[in-house]
Amino acid sequence: MSSFSYYQPTRIHFGFGKLEEVGRIVSRYGKRALLVTVPPFQALEPVFEKTKRLLRESGVEVAHFDQVIPNPTTESISWGAEMARDFHADVVVGLGGGSSIDTAKAIALEVTHEGTAWEYRLFGERKVTREILPIIAIPTTSGTGSQVTAVSVLTNSGERFKSAIVDPHLFPKEAIVDPELVMSLPPHLTASTGFDAFAHAFESYVHVNANPYTDLLALEAMRLVIRFLPPLLNNPADRRAREHMAWADTLAGLSIANCGTTLPHGIGMAIGGKAPWVMHGEALAVVYPEFLRYTAPYALEKFAAVARMFRPELLGEKDEVAALALEEIMNAFLKEIGMWFGLEDLRIPREDLPGIVEDTFKLPDYSVNPRVPTKEDVLALLESAYSRK
Ligand code: NAD
Repeated sequence: MSSFSYYQPTRIHFGFGKLEEVGRIVSRYGKRALLVTVPPFQALEPVFEKTKRLLRESGVEVAHFDQVIPNPTTESISWGAEMARDFHADVVVGLGGGSSIDTAKAIALEVTHEGTAWEYRLFGERKVTREILPIIAIPTTSGTGSQVTAVSVLTNSGERFKSAIVDPHLFPKEAIVDPELVMSLPPHLTASTGFDAFAHAFESYVHVNANPYTDLLALEAMRLVIRFLPPLLNNPADRRAREHMAWADTLAGLSIANCGTTLPHGIGMAIGGKAPWVMHGEALAVVYPEFLRYTAPYALEKFAAVARMFRPELLGEKDEVAALALEEIMNAFLKEIGMWFGLEDLRIPREDLPGIVEDTFKLPDYSVNPRVPTKEDVLALLESAYSRK
């Protein structure tokens, strides 16, 4: 067995109704909270109002920054940081999908450090040097795992480049994972975010630095997504399936927090930088068939194990056979969950492909793939993913 370290400082409160505890939890960190969300809309406005009421009932004053942009931009983060500074916030509460939680993390950093959050991105000009404002994360999607990771993903629109801040100070102090908050998520968002959770689990499982602890988390996360995502799409009101997807998301987040992601996430981030209208889960799904075909021969045992989770009848087959079957199995799964498309369907201009390749190589994910690609390999992979039948 390999030797490894595992670190996870986030206290997790999991289960239906856990939002009720938000006042008690947040008030441990101060009396002035910045609540960070997208602009109110029908599905989530009642949740925003309830959270503010619960905070105020616990003696916490609230300022509400409600200008989060999906695939958050550096400008939106700076507006939020300005509000946090003016309000003298003690604690930042990110309530929403990964975009809201990541914006909360970046605000908590920007308000306590010199310069902008963007300067602290991977391979950026600055390093996080001290404590940032405490972060409380409350997800309303089941996909990014951001409630338990030390990562904030952000986009520089001017550079059309999406990168991430990765530093242990970004771990939320506490995560409130209440599946009730995900009940309103429409089917395509459920599929896209659910596939993101699967991709976290799969990529951390085949990652060159995977360890026995992350394997355990990743395998269970994948088992849950395979079992519960398809039926959930047929019945979005299925509370048990929502609960299992929220748990799968959290497990997959715990796994990437101690391991990381591989090639699809590098390419997916590069796609997101060039095409911010593409959902993160879509940017992953679009390259999965090619990624699996390209990588399978270099990770036969683990690919085979995942193929057998989908199709137990492959238990009788050799690893080579099961591993190579995974691409076809995944294609069927993507079709079943409505995530089968090409780059063309996502309105990515062909002229952007070389730029996507360059940006993929500005991030570390490609280098920890079981098979490390060249730029030519990634371009070929994108060309193949352009049109789907
Ligand atoms: P999101 O936060 O961008 O939200 C997508 C849409 O879903 C928004 O319009 C939002 O208003 C809506 N929505 C959210 N919850 C809803 C609900 N309960 N009901 C109805 N609508 C709801 O989506 P996401 O996929 O959760 O987050 C994506 C972002 O997270 C990307 O920027 C991605 O790169 C990042 N990410 C971060 C990490 C990390 O570890 N920090 C990991 C993976 C992805």
